[in-house]
Amino acid sequence: MRYDVVIIGGGLSALVCGIRLQRSGKSVLLVSSGQNAMHFSSGSFGFLGRLPDGSVPDGLIDAVQALPESHPYRKVGTDRLREYAGQTIGFFESAGILLHGDPLHNSLRLTASGATKPAWLAMEDVTLFLSGEVSSSGKVLVVTLKGFTDFNAPFVASAFSRMGYTCRLEEVEMEEIASLRKNPTEMRSVNIARALEGQHVLDRFISCVRGKLKDEDTVVLPQVFGLKDTSPLAAIRSRIPAHVHFIGTMIPSVPGIRTQMSLKSAFLSAGGTFLPGDTAVRAGFDGSGSVAAVFTSNLGKTPLEAGEFILASGGLWGKGLDAKYDAVIEPLFSLDVDYPGERKQWYDPDFFARQSFTGFGVVTDDAFRAVKGGKTVPNLRVIGAECGGANPLEEGSGAGIAIMSAFMAADSILGSI
Ligand SMILES: Cc1cc2nc3c(=O)[nH]c(=O)nc-3n(C[C@H](O)[C@H](O)[C@H](O)COP(=O)(O)OP(=O)(O)OC[C@H]3O[C@@H](n4cnc5c(N)ncnc54)[C@H](O)[C@@H]3O)c2cc1C
Repeated sequence: MRYDVVIIGGGLSALVCGIRLQRSGKSVLLVSSGQNAMHFSSGSFGFLGRLPDGSVPDGLIDAVQALPESHPYRKVGTDRLREYAGQTIGFFESAGILLHGDPLHNSLRLTASGATKPAWLAMEDVTLFLSGEVSSSGKVLVVTLKGFTDFNAPFVASAFSRMGYTCRLEEVEMEEIASLRKNPTEMRSVNIARALEGQHVLDRFISCVRGKLKDEDTVVLPQVFGLKDTSPLAAIRSRIPAHVHFIGTMIPSVPGIRTQMSLKSAFLSAGGTFLPGDTAVRAGFDGSGSVAAVFTSNLGKTPLEAGEFILASGGLWGKGLDAKYDAVIEPLFSLDVDYPGERKQWYDPDFFARQSFTGFGVVTDDAFRAVKGGKTVPNLRVIGAECGGANPLEEGSGAGIAIMSAFMAADSILGSI
């Protein structure tokens, strides 16, 4: 099977890159072994939540200058970052995903445990606090579902109290949800979202919340609505007579899964080929050191051939890297990996300290081309969390790096940069 581009991975970076290439006339095959980080996302994208000195930047593009030269953002460059950041909302909208936020500045979001964190752009059902203003009356009602422990409503309520609002807490009890509580592992955001998909169940939920409202002009709900599409969000917003804000839950992530499914649909609608549930296990190189083909566990000896290859396999978390006892390897192409050689430097025993292993990644040149044995592989680019030079968890930069590197890899294959 021959394509213009073969992408290994099915997460944010792979899909964004695949859509851009396929829409520009390339034939693209994406091979993905399983779940990706979007399934566990907060529902908001981080671009750069924290600088190396610990401070939170306001203007995002200028702040990139404080990052090391090997950082993926420094490879994209500030002019192109500004252009790409400006394109991001429109790109996602064209895939049916409404993002909001300021593309060039950080906002704040509330976590399921009531902490505030910097955020760049957010999905429709994630509230960003741009100005700090939430409720004009100063009265907020936080509503959760009885028995749902993946949304810490008292902590969320106390976060609003700390912001100066008068906050009341209510629980909704519904028969359709109660059945999930028979097994505590079933009482998860995704299962609740499925239970609330039925129109009559959603109607009952909305009328329960209306019944709990007193003089509040703001209602805060957990993000458990709209696994397939955002119509439940619109119904809730239009029928509850207050401003409605949705706050993230513990994983799995309803908005993250919906966004991943929308990106996958956009890729397929553009004519792309998606091989789900298959793993690229082996690669073949030609005499010049370029990748000739990859082989997957399901297709066996049938090669996936292409002129260009992209590795978007998610780093240690996505299994794009493998930690042996004394070495960290990239298992598919045997690429060079950026990590400290000595195992004791891989992690800090203080769980809350900066961890070095969350920044391991493949070494690339300035155009995101992979490096193998010290030499650039001309037709293999590495994007997203697989790419070295950053520590996305520490920096709060995961989605930003995934999207920016995906845009740049696509544009360089298209010859537009
Ligand atoms: C649990 C978690 C939560 C996160 N939440 C956020 C968040 O809320 N906001 C944010 O900005 N960032 C978040 N991040 C950071 C995240 O890294 C990026 O946002 C981004 O989603 C990474 O996308 P990716 O495509 O590079 O990798 P991934 O999403 O990890 O995707 C890699 C994909 O490659 C596949 N794969 C790997 N090897 C192979 C192979 N050999 N063959 C075929 N397929 C293969 C994997 O199965 C997976 O589907 C989170 C990260 C994690 C781990």
